[in-house]
Amino acid sequence: MAGLYLHVPYCRKACHYCDFHFSTQLNTLPQMVEKLQVEAKLRSEEPHPKQTWYWGGGSPSVLPFAMAQEICDSFSNNFPLISGGEFTLEANPEDLSHEALNGWKTLGVNRLSVGIQSFVDRRLQWMNRSHSGQDARDGIRRAQDAGIASISVDLIYGLPDTSLGEWQDNVGEALALGVPHLSTYALTVEERTALHQHIRRGLSQAPKEDRAIEDFLWLRSQLREEGWEPYELSNASLPGYRSRHNSAYWSGASYVGLGPGAHSFDGTSVRRWNVSNNGQYLRQVGTSQSWFEEEQLRPEELVNEQIMTQLRRMEGLLRTSVGAYASTLDNLWSTYIAQGLMIQTANAWVLSDEGLFLSDRIAMEGFVAAGGLGTLEA
Ligand code: SF4
Repeated sequence: MAGLYLHVPYCRKACHYCDFHFSTQLNTLPQMVEKLQVEAKLRSEEPHPKQTWYWGGGSPSVLPFAMAQEICDSFSNNFPLISGGEFTLEANPEDLSHEALNGWKTLGVNRLSVGIQSFVDRRLQWMNRSHSGQDARDGIRRAQDAGIASISVDLIYGLPDTSLGEWQDNVGEALALGVPHLSTYALTVEERTALHQHIRRGLSQAPKEDRAIEDFLWLRSQLREEGWEPYELSNASLPGYRSRHNSAYWSGASYVGLGPGAHSFDGTSVRRWNVSNNGQYLRQVGTSQSWFEEEQLRPEELVNEQIMTQLRRMEGLLRTSVGAYASTLDNLWSTYIAQGLMIQTANAWVLSDEGLFLSDRIAMEGFVAAGGLGTLEA
């Protein structure tokens, strides 16, 4: 299932915890729209039509309608979306106006991913978000009134100086709004972020892992009780509302990524990534200077990617994805199985909720090239 990802590298404000690629200098938007169309044309030989389009960032919702329409027209010519395809747009609550929502609908947007993070105003201020809790509630209701049923809400848990009760209230607010999908992330402190600086200078507390684990475990069991499927480490939905775009990533499908910082994968072994620099992208796209790098993944690297991504899914890591290494992994992970962190089924290894919290560590131990299993030829 092939997808298209567009990275819109602009935000109105820099959230203190964010290390995605974005700029708050919106004055280069017109040139960016031109260059995105140049890149789309240059890459139109890549497979299409696409089953999914995903516009992320950054904040695609900052694009004025005329610009979004220009990009959409260019993509429709070069990478058309199949009829009934999923078109997700990431939006910030303050951008969910009637006009914007109706405009996006005319472009074919049928799914929104809304970055709410918290409904508590003082947490939003601490994160330097550009909206209030009420903006978030109002924005979601306007989106529903506009007839967009497939809405995902992003929330962040494990914030310092919070309680399980506050997290329960946040999740409760999202569920009360009637959205069918949640993406939830533990707060992490990345270098080169304002949050990292604040903690180093003693201006903010660091997040504590215990707080995050408590929020995470409560969330998974609560959602199941409410009939939801927590289908991936960070994603849960009501039946029928999984993200088709992200699910395709995790199953190793091909995708083309356009815009600064976007990654692409040919579905077999070639990974490519664009420069994460708006100025460089604007100067170099369509010239003899390259604006991307690419690499051919070795067989063991492909297996490692499958281990990392599939272990995070509700379905777990399929035995067929690791070929001859299945029995070695059985031995390697036997301790986790004995501890109840992992369940072995006839076809897969599936992490329990407690195990999921350690999924990166467990995956890395299983990596073919990282010492867990030696080399693929071993
Ligand atoms: S709006 Fe999203 S991408 Fe932009 S700074 Fe905030 S978290 Fe990062």
